[in-house]
Amino acid sequence: MKGRISEIFDSIQGEGLYWGERQVFVRFFGCNLNCRFCDTKLDSFLEYDPDELYKELKMYYDGHHSIAFTGGEPLLQNDFLREVLMLTQAGGWKNYLETNGTLPGALNGLIDYVRIVAMDLKLPSSTGLNNFWEAHRAFLELAAKKDLYVKAVICKDTREEDVLEGAKLIRKAAAEAILILQPDSSCGPGALDKKLKSFKDICRRERVTACVIPQMHKIAGVK
Ligand code: SF4
Repeated sequence: MKGRISEIFDSIQGEGLYWGERQVFVRFFGCNLNCRFCDTKLDSFLEYDPDELYKELKMYYDGHHSIAFTGGEPLLQNDFLREVLMLTQAGGWKNYLETNGTLPGALNGLIDYVRIVAMDLKLPSSTGLNNFWEAHRAFLELAAKKDLYVKAVICKDTREEDVLEGAKLIRKAAAEAILILQPDSSCGPGALDKKLKSFKDICRRERVTACVIPQMHKIAGVK
């Protein structure tokens, strides 16, 4: 079994609740979505079998917080991913999965090998795509068993009703999860302040804890 991997690198997590933690990143090739704000268009990959990838990851074993399996969308290659997660978990690593939260069936087969789930909430007015409420609901219910947080990118077009729907979904399916409101970094400083304040108020009314955290790696200038 071969997996398609676009890059492997050592860096500092720049998004979400774990920003600042040192991680090894494994970027999976390919995605099932095409979000308007995507900054990770991938055009090349190398093929690995699970043992080859694990061998390469072992060269990084030195004080890292966890391995971030990211993409693209790692769950598109769920059989390969499960094999790798089993190896890294048995080797003493914490597995951290970054995912767009639209493939609950794929998550179900490997959730036992994941410690932390960083799930995107794809708001249609942000992505320019259709909504994924039903897939997100099933995904959140599964991921709620784990250390889970949810991240929504906020753009100039993001609408209140989408944030409200997303907050309701989190409260019903994963009430303990924290929602990160991540301002689209292409909008420039201060451009989204009013929206962010009003969206935070919506979350508070829905009894969902929401934090505003920008993409720190872009601010700090790290990969
Ligand atoms: S899910 Fe992530 S990788 Fe895929 S298109 Fe959207 S932002 Fe890009």
